Order: sequence, then structure tokens, then C-alpha cells
Amino acid sequence: MQIAFIGLGNMGAPMAVNLVKAGHSVMVFDLVEAAMQVVEEAGARRGASAREAAEGAEVVVSMLPAGEHVKALYLGGDDQPGLLDELTERPLLIDASTIAPEDAREVAGEAARRGLSYLDAPVSGGVGGARAGTLTFIVGGSDAGFAQARPVLEAMGKNVFHAGDSGAGQVAKICNNMLLGILMSGTAEALALGVKNGLEPAVLSEIMKQSSGGNWALNVYNPWPGVMEQAPASNDYQGGFLVDLMNKDLGLATNLALASRAPIPMGGQARNLYALHASQGSGRLDFSSIQRLYRAGEEGETS
Ligand code: NAD
Repeated sequence: MQIAFIGLGNMGAPMAVNLVKAGHSVMVFDLVEAAMQVVEEAGARRGASAREAAEGAEVVVSMLPAGEHVKALYLGGDDQPGLLDELTERPLLIDASTIAPEDAREVAGEAARRGLSYLDAPVSGGVGGARAGTLTFIVGGSDAGFAQARPVLEAMGKNVFHAGDSGAGQVAKICNNMLLGILMSGTAEALALGVKNGLEPAVLSEIMKQSSGGNWALNVYNPWPGVMEQAPASNDYQGGFLVDLMNKDLGLATNLALASRAPIPMGGQARNLYALHASQGSGRLDFSSIQRLYRAGEEGETS
């Protein structure tokens, strides 16, 4: 298939490389020149603009930082036309960025008015999953669009879910990441309490893992340094999923809750904890570093 890929950052670049590896003809564009190089080396072609990359494509995939970038790409602004008005053919549009559901619905609506199909398809699995081609895609949009997108998404991911209509992929992704923020901070809190009362973090982790407190953070992403060799906690909280990105997702959850009048006291608490943590200079650390917030004051520990 001929595929255009727009946005070649930490996630987009390895995803585009996996499309090339799957045998697709891929044309890429990023505002940053250097971002396109690694994908070109893997065999993709470079477009001079998003429009040029998308011209003649059967599918357009975008992976951009936030809703404002997605709307600027597809809808345009500041007297610049968006891709929706520039396309002469009718490719399937798949946006894999994490953005507000209402932004996704707005772009989907404008696309539909022009006879184009747009899917929101945010991902879970992080940079490691993007590289390994094991991402989970959570898709919102029509049945027909979903069926058409599936083989493309399967070249970049292991699980592909259809959450519902436009925006539903974003809602599901936001719910998942709010729960992740709650689980990670709750796990860090329980570990800090146990250690303060004389327990070994590895022993307590194993006990909770096999008991009713067991959860994903304890199973594969322990926030206490040294408990799990492969976890970012054991590598000074480098790599993994940034505190800044967790804050972005908890902000989306807060806005969604306000707009739908849904109470999220636990999500709100997680949002405050992560905002405090980021304000102390930890934005670029992995999100399991929330453990440090609970250890502030210990020798050698700052938040
Ligand atoms: P990133 O900042 O590394 O990459 C974004 C890229 O988009 C940059 O290279 C930027 O130059 C480019 N860009 C911005 N506007 C553009 C435009 N108009 N045209 C072309 N290129 C443009 O971000 P990332 O970490 O790759 O994340 C991308 C999305 O995936 C975000 O929405 C994020 O929330 C989501 N996400 C990230 C992770 C993660 O672990 N990094 C995990 C899951 C979901």
C-alpha cells in the first residue's frame, strides 16, 4: 500500500519504519528535517510538505504531539489550508496521536463533510512498543474505516481494538492512562509506607503482587529502584513514559471529566501528584519516578 506518515518523533519514526519493513511504500513528512533521516535510511521517501507526502496515498497516518497540531495539519489555520482541503484523492486518515475526544470528533466531522474517513487511533505501549511493533491501537470511527485500517495498524501493533464511534478511541485511551497514573502513584505510596516500616521493597512487592493489591506496575514496572532490573526505576528513571506525557494525559482526563460532569477524585489526586512532581524538575523522567515524591527527605533523595 502507499502510505503517508506525518510526525516522526519518538513514536512516529519507529512506527513508520515498521510500515516500511512490512513492505509498504511509505512517504514521510516532519517539520524537523533531522527527524526524517532515520526513516529515510530504513527505506521511506521524504515529502517536501505534508501535502506532498499525502498526494496519491491510500492511507495517511499522523503521530503528532497534541490536538492543536492535529487540527493544524488536517484543518489548517492562519490562512494555511489543511490537508482535508488539499487532498485531491480520498485516502483513509488515521490519527494515532493522543488528543481530546472533541478535537478528534471535530476533525472526523470535517473529514466526513468532504467524503473522507478519519479514525482516531491512539496507542498504548510507548516507545518500546513502537520499536518492537507491539503497540495496542484503540480505534474510534466507522466499521468500514476500522476494517480498512486493520492491516495497516497490525503492521505496527499487536492488539487492535475498535472502541466505538469517532472519539471513542481517545476516550478509552484517556481512561486507561488515568487508571495507570492512579495505579502507579498508589503502588509507590504503598511501597514507601512498607519500607518506612522496615520491609524490604522486593519482599513487599512480591507479597502484594501475589495478593489482592497486585497490578501492572508491580508486575512489570516496579517504581522502586533495584526491585526490577529492566524497569526504568533501576536506570535512574531514564527512558520509558515521561512524567510530562502522563501530565498531558491526566490533563485530558480532567477536561473530559469536567465536560461530561463525571467525578474523578482519584484521577484528580493523581493529576495533582504528577503536576507537583513535574514542577520540581522531574518532567523528563519516567513516570514511575513518582516514587521519589514519596521518598523526598530521605538521604540522597529529591523529588
Ligand atoms: P514527539 O514530540 O517525539 O514527536 C512529534 C513529532 O511531530 C515531532 O517530530 C514534531 O516535529 C512533529 N510535528 C509537529 N507538528 C507537525 C506538523 N504540523 N507536521 C509534521 N510534523 C509535525 O512526540 P511522541 O513522543 O512521538 O508522541 C506523539 C504522540 O503519541 C503524542 O500525542 C503522545 O501523547 C502520544 N504517545 C506517546 C507515547 C510515548 O511514550 N512517547 C506513548 C503513547 C502515546
